[in-house]
Amino acid sequence: MASALLPIFATPPPLRNGATEAQADGTQQARLTDAHGRFLTDLRLSVTDRCNYRCVYCRTGHAGAHFSEIPLEDYARMVRLFVSLGIEKVRFTGGEPLLRDGLLDLVRETAQLRPAFSDAKLDLAITTNGHRLAPLAKPLKEAGLSRITVSMDAVDPGIFARITRVDGGFQRVRDGIRAAQDAGLGPVKVNCVLLRGFNDSQIEAFAEFSRTEDVIVRFIEFMPLEEPSALPGARTWTPETVVPMQEIVARLHAFRPLVALPPNHASETARRFTFDDGRGEIGIIAPVSRPFCGHCSRVRLTSDGKLRTCLFSQTDHDLIGRMRRGATGAQLRAWIRLVVAGKEARHHIGEPGFLRPSRSMVQIGG
Ligand code: SAM
Repeated sequence: MASALLPIFATPPPLRNGATEAQADGTQQARLTDAHGRFLTDLRLSVTDRCNYRCVYCRTGHAGAHFSEIPLEDYARMVRLFVSLGIEKVRFTGGEPLLRDGLLDLVRETAQLRPAFSDAKLDLAITTNGHRLAPLAKPLKEAGLSRITVSMDAVDPGIFARITRVDGGFQRVRDGIRAAQDAGLGPVKVNCVLLRGFNDSQIEAFAEFSRTEDVIVRFIEFMPLEEPSALPGARTWTPETVVPMQEIVARLHAFRPLVALPPNHASETARRFTFDDGRGEIGIIAPVSRPFCGHCSRVRLTSDGKLRTCLFSQTDHDLIGRMRRGATGAQLRAWIRLVVAGKEARHHIGEPGFLRPSRSMVQIGG
């Protein structure tokens, strides 16, 4: 990880409202919306498609990084553009974002921005596998990170190693979670993708983990976003591999009576629960059995600088190309508005004629 001392970005310091670019050309307008009336307030920025884990449901185990990484100052300019258009939350992801040199500088730079249409601070989050988190948690907090989500698909160290195909990872990730809590990044969210016959045995153990480690465990339904397998017919998504929300709720309720919690905000993707004694918190994110596309507020930037309007998009849009050809801030914002207006209404998982997206999850940024 690069040291935080050098001003690596050759741009003026951002002004209030994150709006250096908008203010410079006076074109700041309404909030970013799509043709379906949704406000886009949530930017996911992938800073690499490299990953140090090879999770069996995500990677083939053979493929490495596919796409280039662009300089951090280009991500920084993209973030400023989006914040000037109404983005209120930026999540750094990948690949594995903690593999990217200079990430701390990018977090620090982004933390200076202010949302264009709100007095609140920009919400800065990261999604990480946690393997390199322990020494970085405090520096990330000091750089301005607000929250952290750690992906963890088993609390049994053996199952964890079989899923990630990396030995000794579980202890490192658990230490990373504890370091994040110590650094003031709690409550830490722990995301677990459930696959039938693979880690669905872990549901009750995760409930216990939430209670003892004081983390919010979120179970996520498996989506058809894995790397196309190098082995024909092997390990592709089927509806049967998905462990649906209803089943997870029933299993948790049998473990200990569940109590529903209200959503934190209107576009909350998780159904939230605690247990009858108020200890532990569980979220269930069910994009397959209960899609939430109608409330989707997300746009995504890939590590090679392409804009995607949906995880399941068939194409991506060349933002970095336009920047390199010298487009002005006003031109870029107008183009972003046009692209985002065409955001897909919803995904079509499980429907006849479903088309796989043009990139896998690791190449988009989860
Ligand atoms: N490396 C980081 C991490 O592990 O959190 C960030 C990238 S990873 C692609 C982001 C999240 O996507 C992880 O929680 C991962 O489990 C999840 N994910 C990957 N493939 C998925 C799939 N097919 N369906 C649902 N979630 C998936």
